[in-house]
Amino acid sequence: MTTASPSPTTRLHLRVTPTAESIIRSGHPWLFAGSLRSLNRDGRLGELAVVYDRHDHFLAIGLFDPLSPLRLRVLHAGKPVNIDDAWWRHRFQSAVDRRRGWFDDQTTGFRWLHGESDGWPGLVLDRFGPVLVLKLYTAAWLPRLGELTALIREVLKPEHLVLRLARNIQEIAQKEFHAEDGQLLIGEKLGGRPVFLESGLRFEADVLQGQKTGFFLDQRENRRRVANLAGGRDVLNAFSFSGGFSLYAARAGATSVTDLDISPHALEACKRNFALNQGDPAVARCPHDTVQADAFEWLEQNKTRQFGLVILDPPSLAKREADRGAAIRAYGKLTAGGLRALRADGILVAASCSGHVTADEFFAAVRQAVRDSGRRFTELETTGHPPDHPATFPESYYLKCIYLKAAGDQ
Ligand code: SAH
Repeated sequence: MTTASPSPTTRLHLRVTPTAESIIRSGHPWLFAGSLRSLNRDGRLGELAVVYDRHDHFLAIGLFDPLSPLRLRVLHAGKPVNIDDAWWRHRFQSAVDRRRGWFDDQTTGFRWLHGESDGWPGLVLDRFGPVLVLKLYTAAWLPRLGELTALIREVLKPEHLVLRLARNIQEIAQKEFHAEDGQLLIGEKLGGRPVFLESGLRFEADVLQGQKTGFFLDQRENRRRVANLAGGRDVLNAFSFSGGFSLYAARAGATSVTDLDISPHALEACKRNFALNQGDPAVARCPHDTVQADAFEWLEQNKTRQFGLVILDPPSLAKREADRGAAIRAYGKLTAGGLRALRADGILVAASCSGHVTADEFFAAVRQAVRDSGRRFTELETTGHPPDHPATFPESYYLKCIYLKAAGDQ
């Protein structure tokens, strides 16, 4: 890919505050509008802009976005580079090569590109078997959609490429780029939801309408851990979405699985995913039921049902920094509810995907609820990001999970 459109003017140059200079030098990929000191001219959406330091030395180059407070997303910092077709191809190929050997043919769903931490700021590319989903979180990519599509076609040769757009860029995408959420960039109309493999299990992905790109690929490693813990246990999967954790538990010999979600669509997807895996004898044997309810209320009110394994994987509880305190309290409350539903000897798996709540804050809230329960627990482990969802700067860490086992004599 080259610049967004042939540029009749000089390259856009930015000067930034000393603080922003050192932040960029340390490898952070974001430059906010408030850190800009001067520009040599008005910048266009998606064009390449070069940041110079106070000694007029090249500092970084990135994608400019005049519409967002996040004014520049850094593509490269350090020595000067020429960003041309060969550079983009190399950047793409590097992300693809990094993933070689991570997934065998039993896992055909994973993330090819994971935003800033993979060198592709504000962009995600997921694979679901023969279908790829490109999700854009910044309008700065829109002028490059054609080149991006050509690059993906050339390197990965997908049957289909679906475009998904963050809500806040859908209007500009439609008005100025004739691009729509759910549009097919490669391939003819999809014949239903694509089915892919994860650790040999079959799942559908709701690529056209589902949350994010249609499936939560980031929980794969935690699902594999749950499989190791679930044998012989009755499982409650709270905030189940399409039943990812549930299928792993069922195949591993869980005695029953209950999916709890507020969304009837999610629970229908759970049923379809169980149906897709009836060829596996353990899944076919495992009793499966669904409960449509607010998990916070259900756990609060539940006095009767107890489980040997409880999974709590709520959606982000802190959409903004201002929600942080309330989110931490909610995690504590949720854990307390999960613990009440846990048998003696039971295992609690509690996850958080709130970027504004740090791993330490989340683990502290869970551990406090554990102490308040008055029961004895062993902490089995804590986990973070899977390899295909790397996190390289503080704001990119969002996923954390803690595993706790209750003592058997209580
Ligand atoms: N564990 C899932 C991902 C969970 S996503 C996986 O591995 O794929 C979060 C889910 O929580 C969504 O399905 C959403 O419908 C559900 N949800 C959101 N608020 C809820 C609530 N108050 N009670 C129950 N479910 C809720």
